[in-house]
Amino acid sequence: MSSIAFIGLGNMGAPMANNLIKAGHSLAVYDLVPGAVNSLADAGARPATSATDAVKGAEVVITMLPASKHVEALYLDSDLLSAIDPAALIIECSTIAPDSSRKVAMVAQTRGLAMIDAPVSGGTGGAAAGTLTFIVGGEAADFARAQPILQNMGKNIFHAGPAGAGQVAKICNNMLLGILMAGTSEALALGVANGLDPKVLSDIIAKSSGRNWATELYNPWPGVMENAPASKGYAGGFGVDLMLKDLGLAAEAALSTRSSTPLGELARNMYSLHSGQGHGKLDFSSIVNLYVHKPS
Ligand code: NAD
Repeated sequence: MSSIAFIGLGNMGAPMANNLIKAGHSLAVYDLVPGAVNSLADAGARPATSATDAVKGAEVVITMLPASKHVEALYLDSDLLSAIDPAALIIECSTIAPDSSRKVAMVAQTRGLAMIDAPVSGGTGGAAAGTLTFIVGGEAADFARAQPILQNMGKNIFHAGPAGAGQVAKICNNMLLGILMAGTSEALALGVANGLDPKVLSDIIAKSSGRNWATELYNPWPGVMENAPASKGYAGGFGVDLMLKDLGLAAEAALSTRSSTPLGELARNMYSLHSGQGHGKLDFSSIVNLYVHKPS
């Protein structure tokens, strides 16, 4: 069992840290929100007073933060790296720009620290169930070292390539997810406007050629899936602003390689419009509200 520092205890980080505690690891946890730290302390973690305090004596450091600026601020603009044991492994799980991820990994490396990018897929449900997919970028030896830890939080663990490769793969996946959620919303709204029951239509699509992750596990229409954010007022889950961030990362990646991503760009504009209307903190499946004023 390992001594692990876990920094960033939001919608994803908290259930991931919980699974590490359940697996028997010794955790020190930190978040800017004291309530998040206290909840994990109740579950058996040591509540740290700062990120630097959390990493003291840690064999593994895991971060799960919102975006590139948070990750760069933590690792590059503070003295955190010098507080980490040189023998420790850093597992950076946030979804951030590949360039940002490479930059942080390079700085860590120059200080003799091993770091991998390990963004995840599977949502808050997957985080709670310990069935996340980890998409890792970094050295093969560090990937191997991380496996036993990642297995306590996830089911499918991929090595995408060198540093930053995990982020590239994750961005491609999330661009597709954003498009699929908008497309699923569009199809359901069309069916309902034409007299169909959203549950019946969802059941049909889930067993037909239009099926996808949204129709199987994360239906955007309220009341169709009891446990989906749509049935809980779009609270928790994966925020509109986080999806917007990922579609922005996809757009940057496309620009830098002169790739064409017309559907990704359309989806980015839709989530941007939705966020601009004040819905940035809602789950991203609330994009269905762009199609209907009051989904029933
Ligand atoms: P979140 O906003 O719920 O949680 C982020 C947490 O980081 C917050 O609790 C915040 O207080 C904390 N934080 C920010 N800066 C900090 C700092 N300097 N020190 C300590 N704590 C700090 O976000 P989330 O939904 O948990 O997502 C985290 C990352 O995972 C994002 O990059 C997101 O894109 C990605 N992701 C999310 C989901 C999902 O379904 N929510 C799925 C896959 C990937």
